Amino acid sequence: FKEINDTLGHVVGDRVLIELGRRLDTAMPAPDFVARLGGDEFGLVVHGVCDAQTLTRRLRDAIGRDVEFDDLRLVVEASIGFVVAPEDGADVDQLLQHADVAMYVAKAQQAGPVRYDPAHDHYDAHNLTLIADLRRGIDAGELVLHYQPKTRVLDGRVDSVEALVRWQHPTLGMIPPDRFIPLAEKTDLMERLTTWVLGAALREIRDLGNTADDRLPVAVNVSARSLARPDFAEHVVQTLGRLGVPPQRLVIEITETALLADPGRAAKVLAELAAVGVRVSLDDFGSGQTSLGYLSALTVHELKIDKGFVSNMLERGADDAIVRSIIDLGHNLGLRVVAEGVDTDGILLRLRSAGCDVAQGYLLARPMSITALKAWLATVPAGGAVPAWTEATSYRPGQEAERQLH
Ligand code: C2E
Ligand code: MG
Ligand code: MG
Repeated sequence: FKEINDTLGHVVGDRVLIELGRRLDTAMPAPDFVARLGGDEFGLVVHGVCDAQTLTRRLRDAIGRDVEFDDLRLVVEASIGFVVAPEDGADVDQLLQHADVAMYVAKAQQAGPVRYDPAHDHYDAHNLTLIADLRRGIDAGELVLHYQPKTRVLDGRVDSVEALVRWQHPTLGMIPPDRFIPLAEKTDLMERLTTWVLGAALREIRDLGNTADDRLPVAVNVSARSLARPDFAEHVVQTLGRLGVPPQRLVIEITETALLADPGRAAKVLAELAAVGVRVSLDDFGSGQTSLGYLSALTVHELKIDKGFVSNMLERGADDAIVRSIIDLGHNLGLRVVAEGVDTDGILLRLRSAGCDVAQGYLLARPMSITALKAWLATVPAGGAVPAWTEATSYRPGQEAERQLH
């Protein structure tokens, strides 16, 4: 619904709500009761239901029919959470609150109507407050970026850095992105977060002030929701212009799953980014379901092999085969291939023999604050290799890792 409002305006948004209200009303004639709770949320009170599945299917059918007016045809979907009285709540407030929790779970799981279950409570109450808190935290300047270098496999030189967001929470301490990004992704907060990360990463990298590194590119992770903004590429170009950073210094990392949310639009946005000189990296590659045909139609510059495969490649033959195949696939498509999750010498050497272009992982450098990054960059000899790379690739007789080199 938000997308309809944003792209077509509130007048169209209002008409959609009126139409949906009418449909729900028709689907649930009196004495049942339909109300709009606010925004795009509706509440229904239904009497004497014996089969919730049939009922919720009827509702979804009513909502799922395209909404048409003038020459617009809009597709609307709904998440449904429900409670059964009196089992699921003692009074109206509690029933409503539990229905809200169930709806939230339905939205998160995207797997049809969900009935309230007390087991949802802890999880959801916690997440809901975390989201409310994030709204405040972004404004209060509690987000920080850490930067993890990517290193060229062949000569050990620094290739670029990836910006990774963290939340320095006043009472909960440092919260990792996996805890709050998936939550933000479900709300309009995600766009604000991406806007913040993009601006902060470009500014900090521009201001590194190290002349030898003043071309160091920075990669920013962008989620499905931000990529779905019709003006995303324009937003990126404006930010680069405002901060005076050339587009060649920016890499956008997106996951396969983000692409699949709306393949057509994603392909268009990537092409727009590429046209202005911003590079695109396909993150966590191999863990999703991109078809190879779709991949070849995308303007991407880099494949980033999912760390799940990389970190196990020495122990698991299948993972080793997958890593090698992705490297070949990338090269055959003319792309650079990056391996993430490189945390031992053995993996680095293995990747080198497999012809991987770039490595990123704890072995070479951990994500670090901008100040720590500056100090770390100073430890890398001018035009030379990252110390950990030199250490890992220097010949030490009898070492297990060396024997794995072909
Ligand atoms: P990602 O983009 O695939 O980032 C790589 C993650 O792997 C990072 O975790 C990094 O710290 C971790 N990592 C790096 N080297 C190693 C290694 O050698 N071993 C292991 N086990 N892990 C390694 P982090 O920082 O917790 O980020 C997790 C995910 O959160 C990221 O995965 C990315 O999807 C998301 N994320 C982080 N920052 C942002 C952001 O600003 N915006 C968006 N949309 N997503 C973000
Ligand atoms: Mg990434
Ligand atoms: Mg990744």
